[in-house]
Amino acid sequence: MEPFVKKNQSYFSIESWMSQFPGLIAGMTTKLGGVSKAELASLNMGFHVGDDMEAVCTNRERVSTLLQFPLNHWVGAEQTHDTVIRKISKHERGRGASSYETSFKGTDGFYTSETGILLTLCYADCVPLYFIAPENNMIGVAHAGWKGTVSQIGRKMIDLWVEEGIRPDQIFVVIGPSICEKCYIVDNLVIKLVENILEDVDVKPYNLINENQYSLDLRMLNRLILLKAGVPDKNISVTNFCTSCHHDVFFSHRRDQGKTGRMLSYIGWKEY
Ligand SMILES: [Zn+2]
Repeated sequence: MEPFVKKNQSYFSIESWMSQFPGLIAGMTTKLGGVSKAELASLNMGFHVGDDMEAVCTNRERVSTLLQFPLNHWVGAEQTHDTVIRKISKHERGRGASSYETSFKGTDGFYTSETGILLTLCYADCVPLYFIAPENNMIGVAHAGWKGTVSQIGRKMIDLWVEEGIRPDQIFVVIGPSICEKCYIVDNLVIKLVENILEDVDVKPYNLINENQYSLDLRMLNRLILLKAGVPDKNISVTNFCTSCHHDVFFSHRRDQGKTGRMLSYIGWKEY
């Protein structure tokens, strides 16, 4: 079943998690319902793509109102396709919410078990990974483009949670809207790095389509990495939404040739 359910033109919720875990807010924004112009039209959530800062803040305020999660309780990052993951506490909330300068530098993943913090990251094709270990109130999100994926940011989140005393079989993961295998063509350099982490799988997440051209299923690759890290297959669900195919809903870096806005993935516990 598709984990992402459209709630409004501006966002999709991970409905099954939100109904199972009271107080949880988790989902992804679309490109609709904001004030940004031209190729960033209209709900651009990224500060780093040349948009007017006021427009980005207006867009963020709109989403904050829709989610009923105050903007000054959000955290955001300067993402670098690396695997640095930070544990967030309440005193840090607000960083990266209304400006890029205050965001967490060189960070591609967040987790917390505290309430009243919305963990957010930006995307336009890369894979959003959402994590929850309900028995421990632990939640997290990670940004996995091809670099983050082959550097195994998904496994890194699991390893960090294991250090917190959580077993992999207590962890559930949702793999969110991102570029599909038909839309994502890479060369041999990327495939070599993918090969390095897939010694023993029967079905490969890529196909040769031309000389030195492969279609790569980043979502499937992330799933394989999570399985290898010990997360049971039944705990992982994967979206069918492609950011490039679904052009009327999502921004896509590839499709829009680099000139595009950013969607936001988010997860947080509401404060009571
Ligand atoms: Zn596609």
